[in-house]
Amino acid sequence: MTDRINLKDFTFEQLEQYFTETGLQKFRAKQVFQWLHNGVTSFDEMTNLSKELRKSLDERCFISKVEFAEKHESKLDGTIKYLLRLNDGNLIESVIMRYKHGITICVSTQVGCRMGCGFCASTIGGLVRHLTAGEILDQVIFIQKDIGERISNIVLMGIGEPLDNYDNVIKFLKNVNHPAGLNIGYRHISLSTCGLVPQMMKLSQENMPITLSVSLHAPNNEIRNKIMPVSKKYFIEEVIKACKIFIERTNRRITFEYALISGVNDSIENARELSSLVKGMLCHVNLIPVNKVDERDYEKSTLKQIDLFKNILEKNSVSTTVRRELGGDINASCGQLRRGHTK
Ligand code: SAH
Repeated sequence: MTDRINLKDFTFEQLEQYFTETGLQKFRAKQVFQWLHNGVTSFDEMTNLSKELRKSLDERCFISKVEFAEKHESKLDGTIKYLLRLNDGNLIESVIMRYKHGITICVSTQVGCRMGCGFCASTIGGLVRHLTAGEILDQVIFIQKDIGERISNIVLMGIGEPLDNYDNVIKFLKNVNHPAGLNIGYRHISLSTCGLVPQMMKLSQENMPITLSVSLHAPNNEIRNKIMPVSKKYFIEEVIKACKIFIERTNRRITFEYALISGVNDSIENARELSSLVKGMLCHVNLIPVNKVDERDYEKSTLKQIDLFKNILEKNSVSTTVRRELGGDINASCGQLRRGHTK
């Protein structure tokens, strides 16, 4: 299996090139691409290809798939949390969320993570490996099949740091946006990063009008250093500068994610400092009451403190929302299911 090619790891253009180079007709690549994105799991299902071609592809290539190891559906709001098993046995998570504007999937981009954020469950065992472009896509394909409804929005906010797996993530974005594939518009896709500055700059030049979310979680380097080791490499000033350049180049509004942790980053002073940091930028602040993770002793801020924090930002004309908690009854925050399994 391992020396065979997963055809979902090719972009559309690469697939065409592969067909031409191996002496196959170019238009067949489009047919295969369509089948793959339809969620077939064997070449035999590709009924508009000749038996010979199917056999020849089967000898050189394979079609990756995911198994549902666990599935938990919230009785409160229909959120579904999947623990998925990859072809090599590794586990990742995806979440389906239902909003008025459509169905959103949250996908993982790595098995584990090496960013080391102090409040996050995904990073506890470190990074095991990157996901390939096809494995990121498989989460969308197979879960869409499972729920039997069209997924209209994607957030790259599951396990992993998407910009630490840059090339595979870009390939995935191209494929999922492709008219012959799932055809999901870039404007319906959000990518979240802990602030890898060089990759943010690169992304700003990809001509992909996705929404960039930046996990800020602190108003200054001192606090950020305590909870996000990446902050020692890229200072908050550099992250903000990269955000400004991203906005300038793409004309897209940035979302700042800010997990409110009691006594760590949720004081009135912190809110004031955050306001002056982002004031005047084309941005939105999303406040997230931190989710309790067993191994960590961070507590979420009180409702009163969250309200005070939000009011200060709004008084300073910073657009702010508090993230609604979905799937409260199924432990839907990311990394926790896999963590439960690998412990
Ligand atoms: N690596 C990317 C995306 C993954 S996580 C990033 O850092 O942005 C998606 C969001 O959930 C990030 O903002 C992350 O900081 C946040 N997050 C992780 N653990 C959390 C927790 N226990 N409570 C609240 N938010 C958390």
